[in-house]
Amino acid sequence: MDISWSIFRTALLKWHNPEDRPMPWKGIRDPYRIWLSEVILQQTRVEQGLPYYNRFVAAYPTVQDLAAAPDDEVMKLWEGLGYYSRARNLLKAARMVSQELGGEFPRDYNGLRALPGVGDYTAAAIGSFAFDLPTPVLDGNVFRILARYTNSFQPIDDGAGKRYFKELVEAALGSASARKFNQAIMDFGATVCTPKRAYCTQCPLAFSCGARSAGTVYELPVKRKTLKRTTRHFHYLVLRDQGDRCLIRRREEKDIWRGLYEFPLIETTGPILQASDLAVHPDWPGSIPARELQFLRSSPPYKQQLTHQTIIAVFHEFSAADLPTALKAHQLINYKMLAKMAFPRVITRFLSENRLHLDLF
Ligand code: SF4
Repeated sequence: MDISWSIFRTALLKWHNPEDRPMPWKGIRDPYRIWLSEVILQQTRVEQGLPYYNRFVAAYPTVQDLAAAPDDEVMKLWEGLGYYSRARNLLKAARMVSQELGGEFPRDYNGLRALPGVGDYTAAAIGSFAFDLPTPVLDGNVFRILARYTNSFQPIDDGAGKRYFKELVEAALGSASARKFNQAIMDFGATVCTPKRAYCTQCPLAFSCGARSAGTVYELPVKRKTLKRTTRHFHYLVLRDQGDRCLIRRREEKDIWRGLYEFPLIETTGPILQASDLAVHPDWPGSIPARELQFLRSSPPYKQQLTHQTIIAVFHEFSAADLPTALKAHQLINYKMLAKMAFPRVITRFLSENRLHLDLF
C-alpha cells in the first residue's frame, strides 16, 4: 500500500481542535509543568492522573520547590499512582535541574533525554511543547494509529519494530509543527482510534486507512512478547502493642514499591497460609515470640494487579504486650503516624477499609 503522509497529516491537523479535551497542561509552554504532566501520565489514565497533577502543582509550583521537598512527602503525594520509580526519578530530575542546571530545563532533545526518568517519548513531548523542537512522540497511541493506518503487522515491541515505526512517525510529521502534530495525534488516539474501540465511521482518516479496508483494525497493533505474570502472596503482620505502636519498615530492595512503607512481611509463593502456620514459618521474625502475641483476626485476601505481577496480600492482626524496638530494618511507630506515610495501594485499602476497628485517622 502506498502511503501519502501528507494526506494523513493534513486530515489529522484539520480534524484536530486544540480546544477539545481541555487539560491544565495543554497549550502551556512551561517545561516544568509539561514534564510533570508527562511523568504523571505515563502508564496512567488521564482521569486518574489529573488530580495528582493538580496536587503536585499546588504543593510545588516550581521545579525548585519540588527539588527542596523531603522524599517522604513526595512519596506520600504520589501514593496510589503506582510505578514508584517514577516518583523517585521525578525527585532526582528536579534536583538535577535545580542544583546542576541553574533551575532551567535543557532546551535540546539530548539534554532532556539525559534527565532521570525521561525517555524518548517524554523528551519528545517536552521538547515539542515547550521549545518547538521537531520531535514527534512515539507511544502506545502512536504505534496503534500508525500500525492500523498502514495495516502493518510489524511487532511494535522489539528493536526493529521501534525503528520502523520511528521512521513512519517522522515521515508522518514531515515539516509540520511537532507541537501541533503531537497534540493532534495524542487526542486522536485518545478519542477516535482507541485500543478497544475504533470509531472508524467518524474517522477523518478512514478513506485512506489500510486496516479499515483490510478489516484488520482489531488485530493491530501486534506484539511479539505476551506478558508473563507471576503471583506473589504477601502475609503482613499487623502487630500492635499496648502503647498503640506498630512495626513498619521502608522497602529499600530492588523490587516493587521501593521507598514505600509496609508491615513486617512473610512472602510465600504457594497458597495463602493461616496465621498459625506463619508462626512456624522460617521467615517469622525471630525476635518476636509468637506465643506472646494474641491473634486477633486475618483479613480476606486483597489483590493488586501490577504489570508483571499479581499481589495477593493478607493482613494478620495481633496484639502484643511489648514489641521489639529494633526488629531488623523496622521501626516502632505510633499508629497515628501511619496517615503520614506512603504505602502501596493494597495496604492503603486495608487501612482505609478497617480504620474503624483499627482506630485510625
Ligand atoms: S479508520 Fe479506524 S482504524 Fe483507521 S485510523 Fe481511523 S479509527 Fe483508526
